[in-house]
Amino acid sequence: MASNLLSKEDTLAMRRRFIGQSCRLFYSDDPVKIVRARGQYLFDENGKRYLDCISNVHHVGHCHPSITKAAAEQMDLLNTNTRFLHDNLVLYADRLAATLPERLSVFYFVNSGSEANDLALRLARQYTQHKDVIVLDHAYHGHLVSLIDISPYKFRKLTGQKEWVHVAPLPDTYRGIYKEDEPNPGRAYANTVRDLIEEVHSKGRKIAAFFAESMPSVGGQLILPQGYSAKVAEYVRAAGGVFVADEVQTGFGRVGSHFWAFQLQGADFCPDIVTMGKPMGNGHPLACVATTAEIAGAFTDNGVEYFNTFGGNPVSCAIGLAVLEVIEKEDLRGNATRVGAHLKDLFTKLKARHQMIGDVRGEGLFVGVELVEDRQKKTPATKAAADVVKRLKVEDRICVSTDGPWDNVLKFKPAMCFSMEDAELVVRCIDRILTGISHFAILKVCRIHLAADSSTISALLL
Ligand code: PMP
Repeated sequence: MASNLLSKEDTLAMRRRFIGQSCRLFYSDDPVKIVRARGQYLFDENGKRYLDCISNVHHVGHCHPSITKAAAEQMDLLNTNTRFLHDNLVLYADRLAATLPERLSVFYFVNSGSEANDLALRLARQYTQHKDVIVLDHAYHGHLVSLIDISPYKFRKLTGQKEWVHVAPLPDTYRGIYKEDEPNPGRAYANTVRDLIEEVHSKGRKIAAFFAESMPSVGGQLILPQGYSAKVAEYVRAAGGVFVADEVQTGFGRVGSHFWAFQLQGADFCPDIVTMGKPMGNGHPLACVATTAEIAGAFTDNGVEYFNTFGGNPVSCAIGLAVLEVIEKEDLRGNATRVGAHLKDLFTKLKARHQMIGDVRGEGLFVGVELVEDRQKKTPATKAAADVVKRLKVEDRICVSTDGPWDNVLKFKPAMCFSMEDAELVVRCIDRILTGISHFAILKVCRIHLAADSSTISALLL
């Protein structure tokens, strides 16, 4: 089917009429209509090219020919559910297992990150026979009812905090309770979880799981301080709970140096459950829960079958296998390491020239640039961040987005084929825009002074 049958205005009008308005568009003032894509580029209905810095789903590049081929060939042959024996499921599980520590050897295939996290919650509760969950502040783990409940980012605006949910401080060493100057921020933040567990126990409640993204994304593109996860896992396990690492945004080599972001925390740390999604199928709905034989065993022992109609079908697994092959064949982790380091380095240099850049952080192609109005006070520059996003789209046709509790962190999670030239272009454009914003701010200050001066003069003349 042609993807450009309607004028942009008609598409918009039909969308307004038929689609729930809570499903928001990027750039809601003037949305972009995209009709095709390749690699890290999107093309609108007029053939104009946009550099995509935010589609972390299209991990190995939009419409990668190897992925399309694997999908088409398998679709032509067979697509059924997992109640029939099929090689793709087991071959894919075997390949995924090779990327993970040995103890994470049992897989459940599902269709979205939300399904994966919901199943992780069920597994944790079945295994521990406990109910309560600890989450990080500002976290988002999915759109199902069960996950809204464990997502402070959502429940604060909606249902409120359930009695079985406990919120630990975000381990943010830039603006959190412990900063870079803290001798051991990993330990200090882990101790907040230890204290929270004690508080939960004092109420007679029991922890089933600690849920956290391996690098908090919605929380503001944060890198967890060293030693945090191992220590938290120790406390959570001592309380009879399990550690769930949400790798929905961060997995599949995005950090470059490792295949999974939780591995940044050192070889002595291994979660009990890992959930994955977004990049896994390069845009095809494919997600997964990986766990230990022991946890999976407890889930089996409850006597209730787990069946997922679409999860792990032969087409999904063929696509998943192709994604893993492309990551390896094209050395995309190597590219993420090199280009990510260059991007971070360029932003760090930019920080020396722009007071508005408060912090630059990242690992591989997961980079955040936090904008502030005042470096000392760290006042979030929310409006400036929105202006940068808008101007990048209008003036440079570059798609960037914001994250963080105040939406003041410019986030970069591009396809893993993002190039050095792409990185340089983005930083050059942001440099120009920030220069414009600061010149405008200086002009505004001058105008205020001028106005003050003229009124002073008027007053003096009276
Ligand atoms: N976990 C994290 C960290 C996410 O960012 C998201 C989606 N943004 C989800 C889970 C839910 O994934 P999905 O939208 O595929 O259900």
